[in-house]
Amino acid sequence: MKLENVRGMRDIWGEEAENQRELEIRAGEYLSSLGYESVRLPSIEFYELIAAKAGPELLDSLYEFKDKGGRSVALTPELTASAARFFATKLRDRPKPVRIWYVGQCFRYDEPQRGRYRQFTQLGAELYGSASPLADAELAFAAAGILKRVGIAPSLKVGNVGFVKRFLTENGAKESALGQILRAADHGDYQPAMEAVQGDAKAFLKDLEGNPQDLEGWLRREQSPSRKKALKELAQIVELLKAMMPEAKVIPDLLFVRGLAYYTGFIFEAFSSGLDSALLGGGRYDNLLKELGGPATPAVGFAAGVDRIALLMKHPTQPVTGTIFPLDEHSLTKAARAFSALDGMGFELYPSITGAREAMSRALKASHRFVVLAGELDGEDAVTIRDLKKREQQRVQLTDLKQILQEADRDAPREGPNERARHGHPL
Ligand code: AMP
Repeated sequence: MKLENVRGMRDIWGEEAENQRELEIRAGEYLSSLGYESVRLPSIEFYELIAAKAGPELLDSLYEFKDKGGRSVALTPELTASAARFFATKLRDRPKPVRIWYVGQCFRYDEPQRGRYRQFTQLGAELYGSASPLADAELAFAAAGILKRVGIAPSLKVGNVGFVKRFLTENGAKESALGQILRAADHGDYQPAMEAVQGDAKAFLKDLEGNPQDLEGWLRREQSPSRKKALKELAQIVELLKAMMPEAKVIPDLLFVRGLAYYTGFIFEAFSSGLDSALLGGGRYDNLLKELGGPATPAVGFAAGVDRIALLMKHPTQPVTGTIFPLDEHSLTKAARAFSALDGMGFELYPSITGAREAMSRALKASHRFVVLAGELDGEDAVTIRDLKKREQQRVQLTDLKQILQEADRDAPREGPNERARHGHPL
């Protein structure tokens, strides 16, 4: 048997695993504080649900199969369709808007590279039952807020896929060809769009390609009422985002499209230096619920790539600060009591009986600051602690252990004060 990972599947460990966990905790707390309710969604759905509005790219990369009961199913390539199924079956009668957030596994048979895997985690939020631009702005704000909470200042690319779709169909592109044209445009290839449109629209598209960020300029020039409406909506959302986060970089891009086929209006993605691909993406999808057979409900949401964001997080957590060593057979209970007294303070328990010398060498190797020695010599209720940073040693009663270690850390903190506040360590 070969002991290796399946291509595109990976074990996540060490700093990266810590970052992912921290991101999920922080994002969850933050989204709960904004009124989003947590849901855990399954990783297998009916093929039909996933395929309905996935778009050609996602369909190509789908893990689909028949389960043992002969059902056509797929591993979830994203979770908006699952969340829509959940909303339509469990929450449809709730007063609107309904807000949920989720974290779950996604699977896409993509070509693996840095930040692109065949199994990855998405953390997303959805708001059902509002067509207001304020709801669009809220979702983009919440998405940026998550990144801010893990030390990333993103730039937000914003667009309106309704504008692009209308531009194409009002100038001769066939509805049936739209999927392929948008897929190419999503990869920066506007040639199929250029070939699909006719007459003046070709020159217009060329101009637009040269200057896609000039939202105000194009808004002034736009003649088609439906496209003007889409651009006005986008301008309003940009204004709301500026009011919500004046410091953020919000960059309109009128040719911006996203791979998923269900978007109908506002779309956005967040980027940060250090990674070329998007950290998260989302937008408005007002028809999906109805198209899936649910209640007609306007909706907007986003999904963040936990694996990608974790790659950029700068502050690994360093929770372990010391080890408790039992020095002899009779001190196992005392070591257990010390472990319990220091619960949650960053102390691990060494599970075997160890000599004091070996304990020191293990602590030094692990770069731990404290060694707690539980041995017979200190009597029943006391242990010896060694502070390897200050090179001090003292005998401490178990009842005082927690307080003394807290004070020791206050005298010579192992991290800066902000860092400690960030991780919430008592030590
Ligand atoms: P999408 O809606 O397809 O743009 O996906 C939303 C987010 O999920 C992206 O912005 C990425 O951060 C993340 N993501 C998508 N595909 C992958 C992948 N193959 N590997 C890792 N992360 C991904």
